[in-house]
Amino acid sequence: MLSDRSRLRFLRYMIMAALSVVAVTTKVTSSALPPLKSHPLPSTLAQWETVSEVGDYFSAIEESPLGYLLWSEFPVTVYLDQSEQDEKWREAVETAVQEWNRYLPLQVSDDRAVANIIITRSRPPLNTTRNPETGIMELSRARSARTRYEFALKPTNEGQKLIHRMKIEISPDQSQRHTLATARHEIGHAVGIWGHSPNPEDALYFSQVRNASPISDRDINTLKRIYQQPTRLGHPIN
Ligand SMILES: [Zn+2]
Repeated sequence: MLSDRSRLRFLRYMIMAALSVVAVTTKVTSSALPPLKSHPLPSTLAQWETVSEVGDYFSAIEESPLGYLLWSEFPVTVYLDQSEQDEKWREAVETAVQEWNRYLPLQVSDDRAVANIIITRSRPPLNTTRNPETGIMELSRARSARTRYEFALKPTNEGQKLIHRMKIEISPDQSQRHTLATARHEIGHAVGIWGHSPNPEDALYFSQVRNASPISDRDINTLKRIYQQPTRLGHPIN
């Protein structure tokens, strides 16, 4: 999160998320929300041996109003914009999906309607911020990407489940190398790392840097801790 601009962005996520919770909870009126419970770790993370020398940045991870934003059914399906006119964009994003797939099972899917993560080739809207000195609203510079989440109810054999969905927008205006770095970072948010690392050697470093880092041991230490946390997502509602 880049300073105030990103704080604002995050606030907006939270407001949108809270609104979705209201929408969901009014539909669930007669039944309580599912309890906070953890899910079994996916085998990829169960096998991950925490590299304790490098630590993690778990304390920077935010919970959603329904708990940590983790997936409980695998593989997590990812829809990518087709964009025939821009093979390089798609190649870069697919590479980022494959990089994360080593740590959490992801699968590219053509079915946008049911995909867990939707990645579109589009320019995220500009942020407006109020200049604290003049009180005037200002447009900030263009963003390369943003990730948002929403909640929904999913019917299952055991009843309804609260689920989430991630939507990533990645700008078409970047070089292939920057598209890869951006996609790697945003997919990190979408798999559950809802926060930023203070360390430039991590893929989830808060700022865009000239030479973006690959997924680091610290990123995965953090991811594993997130998947050990309780959440209301993915459990049947009684
Ligand atoms: Zn970020």
